[in-house]
Amino acid sequence: MSDLHNLSVKALATLLQTKEVSAVEVTTRFLARMGGNPHNAFLDIDSEVTLAQAQASDAKLADGTAGPLEGVPVAHKDVFVTQDFATTAGSKILSGYRSPFDATVVQRLRTAGMVTLGKLNCDEFAMGSANENSAYGPVQNPWDTARVPGGSSGGSAAAVAGGLAPAATGTDTGGSIRQPASFCGITGIKPTYGRASRYGMIAYASSLDQAGPMARSAEDCALLLSAMCGADLDRDSTSLDMPSEDFSASLNSSIEGLRIGIPKEFFGEGLATDVRAAVDGALREYEKLGAKLVPISLPRTELSIPVYYIIAPAEASSNLSRFDGVKFGHRAKDYTDLVDMYKKTRAEGFGNEVKRRIMTGAYVLSHGYYDAYYLQAQKIRRMIADDFQNAFKECDVIAGPVAPSVAWKFGENANDPVADYLADIFTLPASLAGLPGMSVPAGFGAGGMPVGLQLIGNYFKEAQLLNAAHRLQQATDFHLQKPQGI
Ligand code: GLN
Repeated sequence: MSDLHNLSVKALATLLQTKEVSAVEVTTRFLARMGGNPHNAFLDIDSEVTLAQAQASDAKLADGTAGPLEGVPVAHKDVFVTQDFATTAGSKILSGYRSPFDATVVQRLRTAGMVTLGKLNCDEFAMGSANENSAYGPVQNPWDTARVPGGSSGGSAAAVAGGLAPAATGTDTGGSIRQPASFCGITGIKPTYGRASRYGMIAYASSLDQAGPMARSAEDCALLLSAMCGADLDRDSTSLDMPSEDFSASLNSSIEGLRIGIPKEFFGEGLATDVRAAVDGALREYEKLGAKLVPISLPRTELSIPVYYIIAPAEASSNLSRFDGVKFGHRAKDYTDLVDMYKKTRAEGFGNEVKRRIMTGAYVLSHGYYDAYYLQAQKIRRMIADDFQNAFKECDVIAGPVAPSVAWKFGENANDPVADYLADIFTLPASLAGLPGMSVPAGFGAGGMPVGLQLIGNYFKEAQLLNAAHRLQQATDFHLQKPQGI
């Protein structure tokens, strides 16, 4: 089969279960495509480990003990710790680090039968919107290699869009699943905060971090999400005490009468006209499918930028204190005493953006500034969450753009971190509120670059979101389009 690498997770799972292809055959195809590390998407590849997993899958398929996704390959963002592959979180400070255990999400996907292709490049500690902050070099967008893939899960999005993996995991703290999915023309979902365990997910901002799948379609995301989620209270006390769901079961439900809220703040000045045109086109499709568009307001949308860029760095400054050269990764060579060792290790090990966040975070938490910044931000965060609950009185899901523009060119924002922060405006509100959100391919804009439609649901409404996305994907073929040569 020549197009194995273009098949969906669903199609691959079926072919594997019916033994029309073997896991080794599928895996070999992807490993061959990963040769030479196209787009710099991977940070660790070990074909021996991967093939051994595929062989084990074939044995399970033969003896009837196969899991639902047995033999289907997946690649993991390098923020998930793995026993069999190195884990760096895109940082020099963790160079060569190997975890003694697997993250819960990794373990669950293995239990479902998935074969690990390797670890994916990302912004250092998931801080960024363009994958330009990785210590191991940027990732290219398969649609145009002169452009960024988005971030921080840039390797995940590029791997799926480039036909290097049928699916990938991502993490989303302020948009890191949705925005790269949008920039690379794939589908990604960030579930409700707490749905997926954070155990073994290297912490950036713990009150916001959430894992989710990235794949070509909503159907594929549903399969992965069902396998990833579920309570893990012994290991992540913020994981929700509720079982996972079969998110595929409700796909194909009618969306006749579905009320789609259109927040006016998501369509104002600053939204590029090409993005707006694609998003409007998708909304018209929804109307044709019987949905009703309802104007709503999320009045504190703009405030989500300062609020997020206070809370996330504050949490990061605390979380990243564990990287001191004592237990993990890099340690400076020449130092005079312990404090000097800490200082030099961290100065050498962290990149500029990470240092900027640690300093910002330490500042907003410091005595005398805490009330003015951190406490104030927490109060507004609550108001942002309340705004959503008001909006959900009038609508079932919320729709808008994922990002104000299509993927930008390398270097365009390189010396202007604030430009990247501002581009997070549409993904941050749902993150601050802990709501599920997704990106669904909605068309193409300037330079033929993909545009994503963002769908935001109320808490625990992932099934409804995935169904809405699936209905759009049945009516359109944007998610089936591929970059040239893939
Ligand atoms: N761009 C945002 C940031 O840099 C979001 C990143 C993320 O979701 N991990 O913090």
